[in-house]
This record gives sequence, C-alpha cells and structure tokens, in this order.
Amino acid sequence: MKHLRTIDCLNAEEAILGSSPAEAAAMLRGGGELRAHLDACAACRTLARDLAALGSVPPPVEPPADVCARAIAGAAIELRRVRREARRAVLRAAMRVALVAAIGVPLPLAWAVSVWRYGAVWLAPLLPQPLLVFLGGAFALACLAGLSALAFTLTLIAGAAARPPRAPAWS
Ligand SMILES: [Zn+2]
Repeated sequence: MKHLRTIDCLNAEEAILGSSPAEAAAMLRGGGELRAHLDACAACRTLARDLAALGSVPPPVEPPADVCARAIAGAAIELRRVRREARRAVLRAAMRVALVAAIGVPLPLAWAVSVWRYGAVWLAPLLPQPLLVFLGGAFALACLAGLSALAFTLTLIAGAAARPPRAPAWS
C-alpha cells in the first residue's frame, strides 16, 4: 500500500529541511513526537538521514598551494625552449642564406661582368656602335633580372628555413 503523506509528514519535512545536518542527526537520535514519526515513516526518516549524512561529507579538497606556481614555472621553461629554438632557426636560416649568397652571387656576377667587357671588345670590330650599346644594355638588364631572381630565391629559402618551431603538445 502506497504511503500517504499526512499532516505529520508536512510538519516533519518542514522541521527537517529547516535544520542543519547536525540537528537532523540529533532528531534521529532524540525522542519526542518527531522521533516517533521518523520511526513510523520511512520517507521522512530517509530525508532526515540524507540531511544528517551531509554533515559527514568531507569538505571540498583545496588544490595544493604550489600547483599554480609549478604550472607557471613549467610554462616559462617551455616558453624559453620555444624562444631558443626560434633563435636557432633564424640563425640557421641566416647561415644558409649567407652560404648560398657567398657561392651563388660572385660567380654569376663575375661571369656577367667578363661577358659584358670581353664581349664588347670582341664584338666591337664586327658590329656598329649603336647595336653594341643596345646589346650591352640588354645584357645588363638581363643580368639585373637574374640577380633579382637570385635575391628572391634567397628570400624564399630564408623564409622556409626560419619557420617557427612546432608548438609543443600540451595534452
Ligand atoms: Zn512522514
């Protein structure tokens, strides 16, 4: 048979819900009318027990005081490592570019200058002067374009080499 809540139940609930866990525990131990109702009524007894049980719940756990400090210190170490790697990457890129430039620029430049000078000397008896000047200018422009392409390539190499290091896995 279903338990019917009586006016006693309403009074008991009001008394239980208005009390602290310690008071609820005292109700379960004490005497009087309320205790008699709790003995007879499973629903109100359960309510009083649940409330009394809250008194034995341990207080929330505080994290150790140095958790934040340790996390910040760890992040600082990681940040220093990433910065160090970034500096190294830039240095490596600069060295690579310097190496390519040291090899790649003087040789073509010397070749272009010699072609320009000796070409003019050799072609002077064969070609009229205006055509010679035009060819010299065209060759100078072509060399300039070649040097620009070389500088562009060096910039690309530097950019590829100086990519920042991969982000650390935080998981
Ligand atoms: Zn009751």
